[in-house]
Amino acid sequence: MTSVFPLSPHPSTPASTTTVYTGDQIQGIPVVSQLAVADLAPGQHHRVYFQGVQMGSGQHWYVPVMVAKGAHPGPCVGLVAGVHGDEMSSISAVQRIMAQLNPAEMAGTVLAAIGVSRPAVEYTQSWWPTAQGGGTPYDPNRLWPGDENGDTAPSRHAGLLWNRLFQPNLDVAMDYHTVTTGSDFALFLYADLRQPAVRQMAELFPVDQVMDDPGLAGTLETAFVTANIPALTVEIGSPRCFDPDKIALAVEGSLNVLKQQGIVPGPLGRTAAEVSTIFGNGLASIRSTQGGFLELLVDLRDPVEAGQPVALQRNAFGDVVADYHSPVAGVVAIVARDALCEPGSRVMQILYQRDQSQG
Ligand SMILES: [Zn+2]
Repeated sequence: MTSVFPLSPHPSTPASTTTVYTGDQIQGIPVVSQLAVADLAPGQHHRVYFQGVQMGSGQHWYVPVMVAKGAHPGPCVGLVAGVHGDEMSSISAVQRIMAQLNPAEMAGTVLAAIGVSRPAVEYTQSWWPTAQGGGTPYDPNRLWPGDENGDTAPSRHAGLLWNRLFQPNLDVAMDYHTVTTGSDFALFLYADLRQPAVRQMAELFPVDQVMDDPGLAGTLETAFVTANIPALTVEIGSPRCFDPDKIALAVEGSLNVLKQQGIVPGPLGRTAAEVSTIFGNGLASIRSTQGGFLELLVDLRDPVEAGQPVALQRNAFGDVVADYHSPVAGVVAIVARDALCEPGSRVMQILYQRDQSQG
């Protein structure tokens, strides 16, 4: 095991951040509009609702937040689930991590935000539906760090969470996702491996695949990394339902991160090295050229060669109207599960290693 990159409170932490209780309670749980974990009693579990953006009716969306505040000081790790609303395994994984924590024996804090994009979660849909424009939906993972004075409710919601919950408290973060409805995903990390602390975290996860990824603008992961808060995105398989085997491995990797940082006692579980995790730095997309019904010739985690047939498509009469080949040698990371396939839609994505010499 390599040396531990110590996590010290990041320098941008505003000294003035305090907890603001609104005075409201929801189902007996206090509501906060701002949280400083330093204000919470050590050695205990805490639950609050974070007051997010207002709805058009004037009421607010409230995000359930759990904090396991260790008896002893240490870093604060954030666990975020439900930025996309149809990614239920993210919620189960974070719940299971929190249930295993005993604050009395912890040195540091774990803060969990569950079901961040409230209206998307309520309707089990990926994107946040708004009232504007007759119901324009927004991708809630392309707008971080948000803007409290932004033009849309999801942007404002992200800004509130960022300014008043995440950025002031977190030293490290893990954002849990799955693939979106209609597809399926291996157990997979997006991680900017150029960052030593991020690489160390990624190597602690016993996942199928890791993509070394500089990060997409607007994702929560990229917002964290840009703010010098080491972070990665954990993709836990299929959407809508719980994916129990992948959830268990995601929990094991997350607990490894907490153990290696000394927040939680105990020996490490399995890591990437022990499960022969495949690393790549490219994700080749195969998109359909025709409308039709899709038949997969390979499935998740299968190795493929460049040029290998991976899927075909039939019209309503059963004739083959398109066949698809892998453009690279790699492993299957994402597949379409919806058999009906419009032109241009994602058939498959293959994780592969780009030629470094060609940049
Ligand atoms: Zn997602």
